Amino acid sequence: MKTYIVGNWKMNFTVGDASVYLHKLLKRIKPARNLQVAIAPSTIALQPLSLQIDRKKLKLAAQNCCGKDYGAYTGETAISQLRGMVDYCIVGHSERRYVFNETDQQIREKVAACVRNNITPILCIGETESERTFGETRDVLRDQLSSGLKDVSREDLEKCIIAYEPVWAISSVKGARPATPDDIANSIKIIREFLREMYGKTIEEKMPVLFGGSVNPSNAGAYLTIPGVNGLLIGGASLIADQFDDIIETAKKVAS
Ligand code: PEP
Repeated sequence: MKTYIVGNWKMNFTVGDASVYLHKLLKRIKPARNLQVAIAPSTIALQPLSLQIDRKKLKLAAQNCCGKDYGAYTGETAISQLRGMVDYCIVGHSERRYVFNETDQQIREKVAACVRNNITPILCIGETESERTFGETRDVLRDQLSSGLKDVSREDLEKCIIAYEPVWAISSVKGARPATPDDIANSIKIIREFLREMYGKTIEEKMPVLFGGSVNPSNAGAYLTIPGVNGLLIGGASLIADQFDDIIETAKKVAS
């Protein structure tokens, strides 16, 4: 299976700055077999960057989308409008769930809209600090998975990616701390067990599961070698070319 490195730029960079940064990344990144690198700039930058990007080196991801394909939804961007520009779309990021109060229903619709439009959803799941403290991690992960994937047909499940992002490990969250490899291994086991139980061994083995939360060049190698982890979703460190590049180099070694 491929290793995925996905940089989530969140609401950073003007379109001009995003283009300059992409130019820098394209000069550094060499295509590598078994490694897929993607960046998720703001929606406004997707169209110009899609003309600039070299897809052999990097792919584009949207950070969010609307679950409907068209209609009276002021301020929204349909994933159908991003066809041809992006290969991936992050769905259900914890900032969408907890800052913008996105519901399970909306997340499910977005996942289905991505699949319908041939764009790979990266479905983010993860427990909060208090859910972890109350021993609810397993239930939360299983609920978010079953709800998020509910409207995806069996054959389309192979077009989905899961990102496990414990909310308490995301660098921008107050009091965040990096997860230990044991924490991550435990949750990955829960996720893989769920996939096997619900959809069978083939889906369990084929579905990429990424990890995200305070990833940096010093912990990327350890995280990437946790069994069942197929890549990383990176926030803060993806905004710094040296760090993002270092992580990609580490991933290349692990993937080869
Ligand atoms: C994220 O918000 O998806 C994320 C993983 O951020 P960071 O790497 O900064 O913790």
